[in-house]
This record gives sequence, C-alpha cells and structure tokens, in this order.
Amino acid sequence: MSDQSWIEDFRHAIRTHEELEAFFEKSFPKTNYPIFIPKNMAEKIKLFGVDSALGLQFLPHEGENTDAGRLDPIGDKVHSQGSGIIHRYQNRVLFAPTPICPIACRYCFRKNELSERDEMFNQNFELAKTYLKENSDINEVIFTGGDPFILANEKLAGYIQDFSEIESIKYIRFHTRTPVILPSRIDEGLIDIMTSAKHLFKRAMIMVHINHPMELTGDVEAVLSMFVEAGIEVYSQTVLLKGVNDKTETLAELFTMLSDLKVKPYYLHHPDQAKGAMHFWMTLEEGRRIVHPLHDRLSGWALPQYVIDVPGGEGKISAVNPETFAFSGTLLNRKGAPVNFPLT
Ligand code: SF4
Repeated sequence: MSDQSWIEDFRHAIRTHEELEAFFEKSFPKTNYPIFIPKNMAEKIKLFGVDSALGLQFLPHEGENTDAGRLDPIGDKVHSQGSGIIHRYQNRVLFAPTPICPIACRYCFRKNELSERDEMFNQNFELAKTYLKENSDINEVIFTGGDPFILANEKLAGYIQDFSEIESIKYIRFHTRTPVILPSRIDEGLIDIMTSAKHLFKRAMIMVHINHPMELTGDVEAVLSMFVEAGIEVYSQTVLLKGVNDKTETLAELFTMLSDLKVKPYYLHHPDQAKGAMHFWMTLEEGRRIVHPLHDRLSGWALPQYVIDVPGGEGKISAVNPETFAFSGTLLNRKGAPVNFPLT
C-alpha cells in the first residue's frame, strides 16, 4: 500500500467549478465554499453517480447558499486555547495540527472555520505543549483538523513523540477521514508510527470517519484491515445526514460491515446546525425514528452511541436520553440542566 498514488490523487484533485463541470459533464450550483475532490474519489463518485450517497456528500449543493445555521455550531472558538488546542472537556483536548483535509465534505460542521483557515489553527507547538504540562487533568490528546493523517509521517511521529514525553498524557486518538478518501496514503510508515504509539501510551486509537456502506470499497477495507492486523484499535464515527444515510437499513448495513472488519462503531452524530450544511440537518425526532430500531437489529457491541453536540459548545450528550426511547422530550446537558434550543 505504499504506492504513493495518493500524491497523484491529490495533485489531480478537482479544485474549481470549471473542472468539476467538465469532469462530470453536468452543471452544479456555485457556492462560497471550496471544491476539493481527489481524483480517486472523483472516479468513485462517477461510478456510483452524482446523486449517490458519495456525490451528495462531496458535490456542491444550492442548500449551501442559505443563511440558516451557525458559523461555529459546536463552539470550537469558545473553547480554543490557541496553538491548535481546543479544551472543552476536563480530561481531554482536541489538537488540530492542520486545517487541511483529504476532501471538502459539504456537510462539515467546521466548513466555515476551515474555509477561512481560522486562527484556531495557527500553531505554536511549544505553547501547545506548555498548555498540556500546566493542565495535568488532561490525560488524552485527540488529533483532529483538518485531518492529521494528511501530515507527513515524520511530522506526525514528531508530535506523537513529544506528547508521549508529557507525563499526564496517557491516551492518544486520531480522528481521520483519510483511510476512506485517500486509502493509498496509509503506508507502512504510518502503520509503524501507530504501532509504536501503542507502546508510548496506555492506548492509541484511530477514529475513522465513515458515513455510508458505499464508502467501504475494497481499497478502503484493505487499509482498515492493515491497522486492525497491526493490533491498532480502530473505531468509527458516522454523521447522520439527511438524504445520505437517513435510513435504519443503511445504518444497520454500515455498522455490520464495520463490525465484520473488526472496527468498533463508536459514535453516530446527530447533524450539527452548521451554516452551509443545513440541507443535511434533521430534527431530533426524525433522527430518533431512524436510530431507535437499530437496537433491535444490532448487538450492543455493533451499535454506536447516538450523540448530539449541544450548539454553542456545551459538548456532546446522548441523543437518546433522557426518556430512553421517547421520540421527543427535553434533553439534559452534562450538568443536568434542560437544553434550550429547538430540536424538533
Ligand atoms: S474531512 Fe472532516 S474536517 Fe475535513 S471537511 Fe470532511 S468532515 Fe470536515
């Protein structure tokens, strides 16, 4: 898998409206958000169709041009400490070493921050390390972005080594879409880095972002298996998206396929109210009607936690609670107070 074809995929990515329309021989609405589709994924979209679950996730849509939604739906900026650190929860931080992604997802909750190359990503790594050393309650660093696996192996290895030298950091986690979008990026060097991370920390985990069974093509399955066979813990996170994966059947198939690959379905995120992505949004009641029947279809170990990020930065809470299988009702935040925003 060290064929380096991902560099060609990247180099020949579709980046302009004109290139997009020429490649798909179809017109698309213009939006204020960047276009970026690597060649390999563009070919897959062509194969499955522009109206497929792949096309809907990565091709521009007129729904991006409405004013509805929030620029910072989950309150990243509220909790940004600068230098790529976002500290929302007591025991863990997000670390965003790059705003670069392997693709531009149209539903992305960070699409307004990434498109502006927000100051949140401006880094001074020494300051980031100092922050972690001065806050010894923090025991986990979660790499996010952008996408950490888009970084060169040497850069990634350097970050991991430096974090391992901070005594209080016991766990390390990588949120990534790269294995799905640019599978050929997953080379032996990266597997070696993750294997050694396993020994530098109590736990080292990869959280692969995947939304639809259509994304699990043979090349993607092969790289996920490479991680698993190397003894690396691999989990998945999925965003519930209107029009893409909003069927119980589709989600059951996805979580079964992941489980068969020994990838643990971890989170199913209710869609965030992001500006430019509201056409993917649905009410909590709609989401619950899709998700609750999964309890009858999947064993507990194959079922991800269905969660919602409270707008404004209060963090994740269960989207199922408090009345377990009630289709509506009041949600409670992490402090037990009612959440005050429209869900239905
Ligand atoms: S890879 Fe992740 S961060 Fe990047 S655009 Fe897609 S959803 Fe957003």
